[in-house]
Amino acid sequence: RIILAIESSCDETAAAIIRNGTEIVSNVVASQIESHKRFGGVVPEIASRHHVEQITVVIEEALAQANMKPTDLDAVAVTEGPGLVGALLIGINAAKAFAFANDLPIIGVHHIAGHIYANALVQPMEFPLLALVVSGGHTELVYMKEHGSFEVIGETRDDAAGEAYDKVARVLGLPYPGGPRIDKLAHEGDEAVTFPRVWLEEDSYDFSFSGLKSAVINYKHNMDQRGEEISPTAVAKGFQDSVVEVLTAKTLRAAREYKVKQVIAAGGVAANKGLRTSLESVFAEEGIPLYVPPLKLCTDNAAMIGAAATPMFETNIRGNLSMNGRPGMELKSWV
Ligand code: ATP
Ligand code: MG
Ligand code: FE
Repeated sequence: RIILAIESSCDETAAAIIRNGTEIVSNVVASQIESHKRFGGVVPEIASRHHVEQITVVIEEALAQANMKPTDLDAVAVTEGPGLVGALLIGINAAKAFAFANDLPIIGVHHIAGHIYANALVQPMEFPLLALVVSGGHTELVYMKEHGSFEVIGETRDDAAGEAYDKVARVLGLPYPGGPRIDKLAHEGDEAVTFPRVWLEEDSYDFSFSGLKSAVINYKHNMDQRGEEISPTAVAKGFQDSVVEVLTAKTLRAAREYKVKQVIAAGGVAANKGLRTSLESVFAEEGIPLYVPPLKLCTDNAAMIGAAATPMFETNIRGNLSMNGRPGMELKSWV
């Protein structure tokens, strides 16, 4: 099975060719981070414009690097949602045109299913499994009893983890995207400011990060008022310690309760070194295999979309040429 996959839900324009859902033949990502940096975040109109400029380039590059022609392909997969509607539409229209011109089936993929399936490119997925999805727009614990079966057992009630990282970074005057900057700062000192841990109800797998974000903002504000200098490394470490402790503890409790065979982490924040180290240590002790994809498969890419599309293709899931961008698309099981 050879699938051309396209991703354009946010600020990377990406195309990849995936063989049998596990092998990356080519994986091209055009990032727009530089263009959005001076605005401190992703500007939707600018994102769409860049996607228009880049989309054919990345598709052609993915084919060229794979040394393949459209006739070598079995299907075209594309992110259908969630994401910025104007951004999604560029990838979807390119996929539709490509599928129509080359008489190929088209498959619409959920972006978060993609983040989860990034793991299939590294390690066979074993069920039941638990996925911790931590990205710019999502923080979720997803239970999967088989391929294509998703049960969201916990999610954020306010900010996503990545969003909290980006906002706190802004308060500290760090450039967008703030996640990697805070991660780096957090490892540069031993001192940490103590910030609250938000656990919510005792049995809840939900998350909340807006209180933590406010605590950091208030801390900075109070220090400013008193004319005292804050230590960016101590604030970064204190913030990261709080996020990592809550994410790790809830993931561990869910993995035990659901008796999973495998735990996987997914999404941009899974690139976080503090989180990786913490998850690795608790799951090594617990004796449950933990997998975290390499950094370039954690953040947005099309390889993960191709990985998720392959089991959909095998289950005979097909989209059609009336496919539309679905900005608020829900993660639903396809089995
Ligand atoms: P979604 O996948 O929910 O639609 P998205 O595609 O914008 O959102 P991703 O590309 O998966 O999100 O991840 C981007 C997020 O990951 C940003 O918020 C960024 O700050 C964060 N991030 C990236 N690297 C790190 C890191 N090392 N530590 C913490 N956060 C990080
Ligand atoms: Mg992104
Ligand atoms: Fe993403």
